[in-house]
Amino acid sequence: MAFRNRKNITIRMPLERLAFVDPLTGGANQAAFGLRYRELAGSMKPGGYTIAVMDVRHFKMINERFGIHEGNQVLAYLYHVMERHMRAEDGEFVARSESDCFFLCLKGGGHQEIRDRMDDMVQDINSFCNPDLPGYTFSFRQGACVVEEPGLEIAILQDRARLASQSRNPDLEPGCVFYDDSLTVELKMEEELNGLFQGSIENHDFQVYLQPKVGLESRALEGAEALVRWIHPKRGVIYPSDFIPLFERNGKICKLDIYVFTEVCRIISRWEKEGKEIIPVSVNLSRQHFTDEDFLDRFADIAGQYHIPAGMIEFELTESIFFDSHQIQRVRDAIQRMHELGFACSLDDFGSGFSSLGLLKEFDVDSIKMDRSFFLNMSGPKAREVIACLVDLAKRLKVKTVAEGIEDWDTVEYLKSIGCNMVQGYVFSKPLPADAFERLHISWTGSIECNINP
Ligand code: C2E
Ligand code: CA
Ligand code: CA
Repeated sequence: MAFRNRKNITIRMPLERLAFVDPLTGGANQAAFGLRYRELAGSMKPGGYTIAVMDVRHFKMINERFGIHEGNQVLAYLYHVMERHMRAEDGEFVARSESDCFFLCLKGGGHQEIRDRMDDMVQDINSFCNPDLPGYTFSFRQGACVVEEPGLEIAILQDRARLASQSRNPDLEPGCVFYDDSLTVELKMEEELNGLFQGSIENHDFQVYLQPKVGLESRALEGAEALVRWIHPKRGVIYPSDFIPLFERNGKICKLDIYVFTEVCRIISRWEKEGKEIIPVSVNLSRQHFTDEDFLDRFADIAGQYHIPAGMIEFELTESIFFDSHQIQRVRDAIQRMHELGFACSLDDFGSGFSSLGLLKEFDVDSIKMDRSFFLNMSGPKAREVIACLVDLAKRLKVKTVAEGIEDWDTVEYLKSIGCNMVQGYVFSKPLPADAFERLHISWTGSIECNINP
């Protein structure tokens, strides 16, 4: 597999001293990086340089698909493109530290300037032509630490850059993340939450709250979304925004989603036993599940144990999953399998990011949840038209529409007038513990109409 980009970069001669040469790329290794940093640090001004890291994502896929030898050629290619971007006159340099991880020492400390340079590198890297990888783009976890104390050990600066690179989900927040002191505080908290996770699963400190979805046509409660709350006996209530992104990064989210799903099955099964009306409940499904081809079997087994009728559980998949080029086919297959297993599927957070209408054509979802951000500025006529067109399009495709995060009656009225199917938002209710939700359900029977048409 020959790798050349448009600038026709090939491998340059190795450094003189063997101890400082990475045999794989023929360029600098970690020892050389440290040595060159120490040489430069003597004359460095605080904030004058930045240590950055670029960690190749999904590199395993290259090795698995093409073999180690070809994988090594890819790494050499990446190194040499990065090296071309180093300004030797400013003392800049790059090294491969281990496996698929590269460190850079760049002049300057301006965040935007460094981000732009790293973006240029990624763009240059992805300008390659290779018939074995048509349309493939390399992506990286990128982190950086501006050198405020040139006397610090290089290992500390590298650790900080790496910490920064790992602190965000690159699918949600692409680009370089910069280290600062608050990150250390954040990471300490994350460490603590990680430590508490298993005990909390065992003690049932995670609780499932239900938020009503109200049908605008039927004027009745038509469904609910299950949202997890972590109520720790010592820490108090911990909100999803503090732990979901963390557990998505380290994979614990899969266990948590299974837990929430099981709790939802338990609730539905109880409603059935108590002769209560059963309404469909949706659960959030993290993108992490899709790394395991057979993940749905586990969910189907649990639903089977609780005898959940078909159509009573829906999976909400967040919009960004549909844009992951590595997973598109898996997502398509999974949606088909969900339907075979009697689950519905909804496209969550529609409009929060890329918002492609093409998604509705490509993926066989049963409903879309229009994100709260759609409704934050409804004053202009264009905003209203966009929502009306979207609802209309979805209707033609027989996809239901749910408007999420609605807080006022004017918007409810507008949504009703354009034929939106359901509303979920504080205007009706916040997410509630199961027993409070059941009380609300009973109290709403017959009276919700006057709420919708005040
Ligand atoms: P989401 O799936 O988009 O859930 C809707 C979020 O909007 C919920 O926040 C809900 O409380 C909030 N919300 C609902 N109505 C309103 C409103 O009228 N105004 C405002 N300002 N907010 C409203 P929550 O419960 O904090 O959950 C945040 C996110 O955490 C969820 O966003 C979802 O992505 C994730 N999440 C929650 N539970 C789970 C879970 O069990 N598994 C997974 N994978 N993710 C979960
Ligand atoms: Ca959701
Ligand atoms: Ca949502």
